[in-house]
Amino acid sequence: MTSPVWHPFTQHGLREPIPLVERAEGAVLHTRDGRVVIDAISSWWVTTHGHCHPRIMAAIAEQTQRLDQLIFAGWTHEPAEAVALGLTQIMPESLTRVFFSDSGSTSVEVALKMALGYWAARGEARHRIVVMEHSYHGDTIGAMSVGARGVFNQTYAPLLFDVSAIPYPAAGAEQATLDALEALCREGDIAALILEPLVLGSGGMLFYPAHVLAQMRAICTAHDVLFIADEVMTAWGRTGTLLACEQAGVVPDILCLSKGLTGGSLPLAVTMANEAIFQAHWSDDRAKMFFHSSSYTANPIACAAANANLAIWRDEPVADRIATLAAMQAERLAALGTYCHFDNARQLGTIAALDMRTQEGGGYMNSLAPRLMAFFRERDVLLRPLGNTIYVMPPYCITPDQLTKIHDAIGEAVISF
Ligand SMILES: *Cc1c(COP(=O)(O)O)cnc(C)c1O
Repeated sequence: MTSPVWHPFTQHGLREPIPLVERAEGAVLHTRDGRVVIDAISSWWVTTHGHCHPRIMAAIAEQTQRLDQLIFAGWTHEPAEAVALGLTQIMPESLTRVFFSDSGSTSVEVALKMALGYWAARGEARHRIVVMEHSYHGDTIGAMSVGARGVFNQTYAPLLFDVSAIPYPAAGAEQATLDALEALCREGDIAALILEPLVLGSGGMLFYPAHVLAQMRAICTAHDVLFIADEVMTAWGRTGTLLACEQAGVVPDILCLSKGLTGGSLPLAVTMANEAIFQAHWSDDRAKMFFHSSSYTANPIACAAANANLAIWRDEPVADRIATLAAMQAERLAALGTYCHFDNARQLGTIAALDMRTQEGGGYMNSLAPRLMAFFRERDVLLRPLGNTIYVMPPYCITPDQLTKIHDAIGEAVISF
């Protein structure tokens, strides 16, 4: 019997196997056919502390006994208040306001609407968004508009709005990025710059240095251009610090958080804004309110999961686990040596990546990716290469043995392909 399910980013015509997972704990998934698979990509970058973390599961169970869902326009509840307060305590001080939504894409849509709302309220004609080449901000129309254009969205190109792109600051070409940003900002109609700090995730785990991030922030500040940090992937310790921006001493005007916000257990997102952006929407005129909502804004059960995540960050040695994992990743990557089959072995915080050499050249549609995925699946390792880029981004609870198994599989792959 064929399943009626239409899966995301899946070409059903290729008839690739779709394993059924029955349960998970820590860094492993248990499939119905009895396999124990290591989740080397944190179930698409969301699972931070491990699957079914007992404190998060308990918080969810407890919340289900109290309040399941509540309209959030004009009403509030304890779990949301606690998440907002908890976030303002650990995120940069100037980000005083917390707007809830339910996915990374919507947190980006909200960020863009906030930026436009800010300039509209100030009566300045600034509508243009600057983006970085190779960026990814989600798959809704607005989020796609500010992301890289390519095979994944060319069908929808007629619906995407125009943006201005600066080049990715590749090693040795950082100045070109800064010059391009400076030139665009001088044009005077730029509302905001949106980018992924330090790591362009979907773009192929492309890293760039903290000093470039700091310089981009400085250029925006000098030209009054709002700085939106999409930390949907990079936050919650992924790059070694709570936020990637921290490593550059950068504080954004608007910050998007999602994936690890609930420890990866339930969908929830926030867009945090500074006081000036909130105040720009403050008025006694109802026509000037911030017009955004979704049905499940600040769902209480998802908020309970987020509070458990915040508690884990407060009470448990999360930073130590991240530092240990980062060291292990660096060591395993170095152990792969210098096979002639790959380039650009790189590691930042909990993320390790390398690029396979290929006759076809890189890119998302490179035929290596599905073949590599199958190769790893056969070895009970869940990896999902981005084109010719293999990366490891595991939950922080992964054991040394599990990590070794992942890197052994990669070692085997780099000599087999
Ligand atoms: C995953 C991701 C998004 C989109 O988040 P969804 O929850 O999948 O909508 C946005 N920005 C970045 C940087 C991401 O990695």
